[in-house]
Amino acid sequence: MIRFSATLLLACSLTLCAQGKKTIFVITDAEGVAGICRQEQTDKKDPELRQLLAGEVNAAVQGFYDGGADEVIVWDGHGGSSTLSVATIHPRAKLVIGYIGARYTFDRHYTALAFVGQHSRANTRKGIMSHSYNSLGIQNMLLNGKPIGEIEAATALAGVYGIPAILLTGDNAATEEMRAIVPNVETAAVKEGLQRYACISLSAEAARSTIREAARRSMSKIGQIRPYKITGPATIEIEHTTRNSLGTDAELIPGTKVIDDRTIQYSGKDFLEAWLRYRFR
Ligand SMILES: [Zn+2]
Repeated sequence: MIRFSATLLLACSLTLCAQGKKTIFVITDAEGVAGICRQEQTDKKDPELRQLLAGEVNAAVQGFYDGGADEVIVWDGHGGSSTLSVATIHPRAKLVIGYIGARYTFDRHYTALAFVGQHSRANTRKGIMSHSYNSLGIQNMLLNGKPIGEIEAATALAGVYGIPAILLTGDNAATEEMRAIVPNVETAAVKEGLQRYACISLSAEAARSTIREAARRSMSKIGQIRPYKITGPATIEIEHTTRNSLGTDAELIPGTKVIDDRTIQYSGKDFLEAWLRYRFR
């Protein structure tokens, strides 16, 4: 009984259990959804995408509730936040619609972070439609010299606020990218990339049951998975594509260094400061 209490106390200190309520924040995207392998399928109004994405999101939501979640908040992260609808979202989920700011609302101190339908970072070999935030505008994104994408940026931002990432669903490449920074995270790979626009995919039904089960399992890892933290001063370097080269006054932005016509570096005393400099430029 004493051992049980000690374990519980440790889990609580890591998960803000003192507040009692377990709230899971889900970031959604399109390129990592089962059956989505070509660019035209990612159109935010594409009926098949909307159906497949909602199916995976709802499977994850159900899995979180199966595993003991009290609240699941889903941010519609693809296509200007207009791919999901309250008409088709899980009845017990809340949907965040619109731009959520540079901090992804993590200052609301959710219990855990999850990704559904996620793709890998720019330049990933066999990563289906791999990119970092902007496939047409950004060639490469580096954090302290290391290539990153949406997975690592969001996971590190959550880490700033003590929130661990517990689940990622997407293609094989995205799940590998996630495990490279959070080794004990739960993942569900719903398709394998053959090349940028070719894949072998699970059926929607198989993807949903895999995701629901992974989400349920991920709840039991709350308290075991530590928030992912970037320590010390940080630089974020953005290498734009040629069509998005730097404006004439790029040098005037505080905390920045222009590397070349397409590349700019933002620095800060820590990751959050560098990130905010980049996002509020
Ligand atoms: Zn994305």
